[in-house]
Amino acid sequence: MPIQTSNACGVNSHMWISDTAMCRLSDQSQIRQWLNTQKLVDLVRLGSFFPDSGYVANHAYGELTHWSPFINTYIESLKNKYQGVFDGTSAKEDIAFLFGVAAHGFEDELFDTIFLRRSLEIENTDQDLADPGVDYLLTSQGKTHIKPAFYFPMESVIEAIRATNTEVEQSNISLGMNRAYLATALVTAPMAAANLAQPYYDSMPWVASHFDDFAIPGSLNQEPYFVGQLFESIWLQLKGEWKAEQGFIGSVPAEGQLLESAGLIADRTVSFIFSLGMYEPTIREHLKIEDEMGQEIEYELAFNRWSNGNDYSRVIQVLITTPLIAGRGYQFKFLPGIRWVNGSVLDVEKNFFFYARCEMGATEERCMPRVIEEGVKGGAQRGCLVTMEEEMVQIAQMDMGVDQALLDVALVQDQLVQDASVIEKDMHLMDISVRVEDLGMTEKHQGCMQKNHGGTLGMMVVLFLIYVLNMFVLRQCNRMVDIDKI
Ligand SMILES: [Zn+2]
Repeated sequence: MPIQTSNACGVNSHMWISDTAMCRLSDQSQIRQWLNTQKLVDLVRLGSFFPDSGYVANHAYGELTHWSPFINTYIESLKNKYQGVFDGTSAKEDIAFLFGVAAHGFEDELFDTIFLRRSLEIENTDQDLADPGVDYLLTSQGKTHIKPAFYFPMESVIEAIRATNTEVEQSNISLGMNRAYLATALVTAPMAAANLAQPYYDSMPWVASHFDDFAIPGSLNQEPYFVGQLFESIWLQLKGEWKAEQGFIGSVPAEGQLLESAGLIADRTVSFIFSLGMYEPTIREHLKIEDEMGQEIEYELAFNRWSNGNDYSRVIQVLITTPLIAGRGYQFKFLPGIRWVNGSVLDVEKNFFFYARCEMGATEERCMPRVIEEGVKGGAQRGCLVTMEEEMVQIAQMDMGVDQALLDVALVQDQLVQDASVIEKDMHLMDISVRVEDLGMTEKHQGCMQKNHGGTLGMMVVLFLIYVLNMFVLRQCNRMVDIDKI
């Protein structure tokens, strides 16, 4: 097991990435068909910060649940439990939570490896600044308002953790999840978030202006594409339909984009992303790069940020060290024999092909980079969720006996569906649910917006929030260990 501390404190960032991934699932996706209630969507969101809850509880399950070997155990545990029958409510809830948990470590692995190696090269910004900073920026800029209902399937995740011979009690997890959940209160306290965000514009200017830039590899806005692929891969694994070649879910740059021969190391690096851990020692022998003349090309290989070279990585980075010839084609060949964390071995050759950037002014077809379009997001999304401003006002104005109502309504395609959750956010974190149907709403909008409405938070709550963040979350961010730089 890789046990170097990887630490990420961006509770809201994780939920935002996973949420966007759900919204960008294709219309053909089976997952899109069944992940269609507020409760299931909220479970993916809650799972998305579960691994960090172990850090804030000071329990070993935090580190454990970040990594691919645990996710494999979790998948196996649910496969055993449901024996291929996943259409019941509890199976769907377990799987939705698993999606979130798996997404978290995967998101960390991509962000820490791809994005932060770039930010380190550009302005020496690392995780200690970027993790909390990005969370504050995201929330203070109004880019997320996600506040899931606080419910998750405790028993199944405990069972999976215990299957790794790690001792854990419900009380450990309750402690961690309650503390981590408090950090989500940031989204309902814009003034507090803005104050917390302010110093980061100066201390990490490049990250502050690029953390959600789709064009930057590993950014929050680019990750959802890969996270969606991760969900699909886990779903196939659960059903026993996954094949070893499906462990590859993409690269940055994507095929059709050009290889760079100059500029930052980060610009010249190609990252390959996998839906499950690839056993690192098996890749050294099984990755060959050739140019289109069949000439073998030399390269350097790096694994995820926290790897010791003998672990399972869900991302690798390849830096070609032979000078590239402008306009020439290069083939990255992953040969049979690469082993995944679930024991499967790649039995076919998997190739990725790129052209190197041409000389200035070249007009050949091969010199034209493919434009990768940003996934649509926000209110115009194709619709796993629908939220209506009027409804939120309506609900927020109801006499719920709370001073802060926060709402997330899930409506799917042509029907008004399921619950809306109105969460009272006081120090006791009491949840109140109401039925959308009771409110008599008929209008339908598609989208993945999450909005909040309600009165101004009392100063007590803001102060308490800052106290909590400082005590339980920021403290964890500062526990950095040695960083393995490329
Ligand atoms: Zn983390």
